Amino acid sequence: MEVIDGNQIAAALVAELKAEVSAIRGRKPCITLVRVGEDPASVSYVKKKGRTAAEIGIESRVLLPPVGIAQAELEALVDGLNRDPGVDGILVQSPLPDHLDEAAVFARISPEKDVDGFHPYNLGKVVQGDEAGFAPCTPAGIMELLARSSVELEGRHVVVLGRSLIVGRPVALLALQRRAGANATVTVCHSKTVDLPSIARQADVLIAAIGRAEFVTADMVKPGAVVIDVGINRVSDPSRKAGYRLVGDVHFESVAPLVSKITPVPGGVGPMTVAMLMKNTVKAFRRRGGC
Ligand code: NDP
Repeated sequence: MEVIDGNQIAAALVAELKAEVSAIRGRKPCITLVRVGEDPASVSYVKKKGRTAAEIGIESRVLLPPVGIAQAELEALVDGLNRDPGVDGILVQSPLPDHLDEAAVFARISPEKDVDGFHPYNLGKVVQGDEAGFAPCTPAGIMELLARSSVELEGRHVVVLGRSLIVGRPVALLALQRRAGANATVTVCHSKTVDLPSIARQADVLIAAIGRAEFVTADMVKPGAVVIDVGINRVSDPSRKAGYRLVGDVHFESVAPLVSKITPVPGGVGPMTVAMLMKNTVKAFRRRGGC
């Protein structure tokens, strides 16, 4: 059994991007991060994105509009970033406060600056299998993790648990694409799936993205399968200073001994998400004529 080291694979990708960006003469790629409100997870994600950008040599700007900002004002702010020639990528950190329509804000971002990959145009490109668009970062990160861990998908049965627009649905579409590194046979399960364990047991590659702590147990996994755990769940743990610890959607201790490869939580898929955001930013810069 091999534990796939997401930190190491993400670090290799970041190092490659750093070498690529350092060779750019003149203006460097620039990402603008927009965070509304003080959600602690969002604060830490935006910080991490800024730090990784700096490490690569990507310029990052952080905008912190007031938590009560109106929909029209936030859309006007996005319009300004769309027009700004110095901005290559725009990321509006999710979740937005409840009074804001997140889907409408994402759709307002110019598709060519949509490095998070949530604009309907870019999701459409994923459906078409057209790599000219930007795939959402977590699903793209999962594909990169599988490729760099030498997991062959062609002809194999990939079972995805979860059908969200952020993870489950796009990763299923990416694995299904007609291209080297994909070409899988894909099944997607969700909360209405009947007898999910028997479907999960058929997976050569099982991707768990449901947001339920340690849901996937040994009886749901085929021996020798590859297991990708996307979940990030807090469970109470009085022995920790923070009072909680992070676990995935997979019960690691019981599943790991059965499988050929598995990602840990933390340190598996998570680091890839930020690295792919940076990769998309450099791609946006190039596509906008940067050299
Ligand atoms: P969502 O809550 O948006 O979607 C969860 C999906 O799982 C839904 O499709 C839902 O089904 C399905 N589901 C929920 N409960 C069950 C169940 N008991 N049986 C079968 N299916 C179920 O979550 P996300 O996709 O946004 O996130 C999933 C997990 O991944 C979370 O833990 C999240 O924190 C993590 N995550 C990690 C990232 C990373 O960078 N590593 C990035 C993004 C997310 P239905 O559609 O029927 O409701």
